[in-house]
Amino acid sequence: MNFRIVTVPGDGIGPDIIREAVKVLNKVGEIYNHKFEFTEKLAGGIAIDTYGCPLPQDTIDACKKSDSVLLGAVGGPKWDHLGGNDRPEKALLGLRGELKLFANLRPAVLHKQLKEACPLKPEIIGDSLDILIVRELTSGIYFGKRGRVASDNSAFDTLYYNVNEIKRVLKVGFESAMKRKKKLTVVDKANILETSRLWREVAYQTAKEYSEVSMDFMYVDNCSMQLIRNPKQFDVICTTNMFGDILSDEASMLTGSIGMLASASLGEGTLGMYEPIHGSAPDIAGKNIANPIATILSAAMMLRYSFSLEKEAQAVENAVMQVLDEGYRTADIIGNGVNPVGTVEMGNLIAGRIK
Ligand code: NAD
Repeated sequence: MNFRIVTVPGDGIGPDIIREAVKVLNKVGEIYNHKFEFTEKLAGGIAIDTYGCPLPQDTIDACKKSDSVLLGAVGGPKWDHLGGNDRPEKALLGLRGELKLFANLRPAVLHKQLKEACPLKPEIIGDSLDILIVRELTSGIYFGKRGRVASDNSAFDTLYYNVNEIKRVLKVGFESAMKRKKKLTVVDKANILETSRLWREVAYQTAKEYSEVSMDFMYVDNCSMQLIRNPKQFDVICTTNMFGDILSDEASMLTGSIGMLASASLGEGTLGMYEPIHGSAPDIAGKNIANPIATILSAAMMLRYSFSLEKEAQAVENAVMQVLDEGYRTADIIGNGVNPVGTVEMGNLIAGRIK
């Protein structure tokens, strides 16, 4: 089959890691007989330098016409002096909004090969960890009305959700749970917040469509504690924009390395945006030391969620595991007795093990 992918390398290590993910996808195409057509577009700091804005219309149009978007990372010290709407990071919010991507999937996976990187005690974490956080991405307090009231020296942010916004992200949570261990935890603050009580009502309704999934609820403060106390109790967590933002960062730390974690942002259709959770790491850009695995695993998520190529997605994930099993490591996940490799070598090794 034929798939059109827009790559948006962005800034810093973005071009280094996207290049390796493209290499791996090309290898998948070769072995499984698919054609991936890549078009590269600018966003972030490099777009500011070239076009004077972080998200050019040309990039938006190309992404909308594509089958999916693979993004590196944006930002860096060169653009830190710029204000809110002019900053490189604005490109991310812009793209999510333009592509109507309302669900953000962030797997927090601790691979057994890297279990020493987990900051928790071995008796808590065991051999490995695999949690998926589904975060609502385009509503909630980050998008509600906000402002300052000069007359009483105050500021306000509004937490708003409607039933449709809640239902569509919960469905992504249930669907994801169906493909995993069939367990969904809806995280909220229903003892205080009216929006959380609405989330619970919609969750009970939606659960009727997914009788195989066991659903429970947890307050966000308890969840942040349980992620440290007993993270293995979780399979899929579904939650609001702000709670998901915070919990997914907390969960990612359980895996020890930021260079390993992928993400997907999905909407109603199959078009999605896939990116590593780390930033543009300007300190190591262009030095052939960045870990490309988070981006390669994001490409695997693209194969699974946007193209329904489960076998191919697993082939990429298995290739990553095999390379780690063989002891190859980039500098960020280095340990004793392993083989240090650079960005390009890591990409070559993974591409070479696609079966
Ligand atoms: P960062 O994730 O870029 O880097 C944090 C640390 O992790 C650095 O020491 C970096 O070298 C290391 N690191 C990150 N990715 C790595 C990889 N793949 N391999 C090896 N090491 C890696 O976060 P930061 O330093 O806070 O931000 C740098 C820039 O990135 C800022 O301009 C920030 O705004 C931007 N940023 C962008 C995104 C995004 O595009 N999604 C996300 C976060 C930060």
